[in-house]
Amino acid sequence: MPLISPRALAIVVMLLIAPDSLANPQELPAPEAWAALERGDASKASAIFRDALDRSPDNAILHYGIANASLGLGRTDAAIASLKKAIERNPRFVEAMVLLARVAYGAADLDLAVRSLEKAAAILPRDRQLAEQLARWKKESELHQGFQTRPGARFNVLFEGPAQRAIGDRVSAVLESAYVNIGKQLDTYPGLALEVILYSNRQFQDITRAPAWSGGGYDGRIRLPVGNALRSPQTLDRVVIHEYVHSVVRTAAPTGVPAWLNEGLASHLEPGDKTWAARVLKTSPERIRLEDLVDGFGAMDAGMALIAYAESAVAAGLLMERLKPQIGPFLQLLGNGHSVDQALSRHGVQPEAFYAEWRRRVGIRDDAR
Ligand SMILES: [Zn+2]
Repeated sequence: MPLISPRALAIVVMLLIAPDSLANPQELPAPEAWAALERGDASKASAIFRDALDRSPDNAILHYGIANASLGLGRTDAAIASLKKAIERNPRFVEAMVLLARVAYGAADLDLAVRSLEKAAAILPRDRQLAEQLARWKKESELHQGFQTRPGARFNVLFEGPAQRAIGDRVSAVLESAYVNIGKQLDTYPGLALEVILYSNRQFQDITRAPAWSGGGYDGRIRLPVGNALRSPQTLDRVVIHEYVHSVVRTAAPTGVPAWLNEGLASHLEPGDKTWAARVLKTSPERIRLEDLVDGFGAMDAGMALIAYAESAVAAGLLMERLKPQIGPFLQLLGNGHSVDQALSRHGVQPEAFYAEWRRRVGIRDDAR
């Protein structure tokens, strides 16, 4: 889920909370904290907001501010608690309600997301975007209410009917072993139970609006289209593990992981044939630079996406080679706000040498630009 930029938030707050008295973001409480958020320095922002809250514990905007800082630090639970406080103190704080809804949705708490967006929509009944989002989430919630659950300590698998029970059993078994295998490779073991939802192919498209080439999704819970899954159980296993890696990466680093690393690890750690990436790159002349693979591949067509995944898998493989077994601590550095280059250097890997070797492996000539 993309985070709203602090600047956009500050401006929205300014316009909607106090349109007359707040002429610019400088007049928000704790302006240095907002400036720190804008620079991406969430820990500094958090400290300043905390100080300001000590003096004005009932200021809704400060609670909203610290929630944003918590999100920047990957602390979802703290952000949810602060947003609830902001709304308690200002029951018409629409931006806090919308943000709470989005954060709750990302944390797989669909009930809280729907409740929070309902409150916002009641205040702004003519906002079409809000109404559409609310309708989509309600539809999703209703669909899930008709599903059965195969509960477990680590994974709750939801599926629609008896026909999918066998798929649910297989998915559960694959996940239980991935918990151990992937956990060992990334040195990370999620503590909270993960929701895994099995859809018909049509339901999956409706709910996720994922590109047609997508075989599954992770957005706080794993979503899988399983229409004909048992015809090709190896493909099912591969997709399940791919999506599970995303949830492990998010446990290690809730923010700060570029798409090439996230998708790269998920692709590299899939079971089965490891030569596909090399084959894709051999048969395709196109290349994408790593800096263009930071924000996700959802907008690409199938051909470009395949190249993006292949290049990312090569990068993740190289990284694991260089860092093993330090990949878990490496990811945690990213989650704590370090850049990839800083985290590489901390682990004794020279960023330029790493990128040069990656370019060599994917076949980008150093003089090509
Ligand atoms: Zn993926």
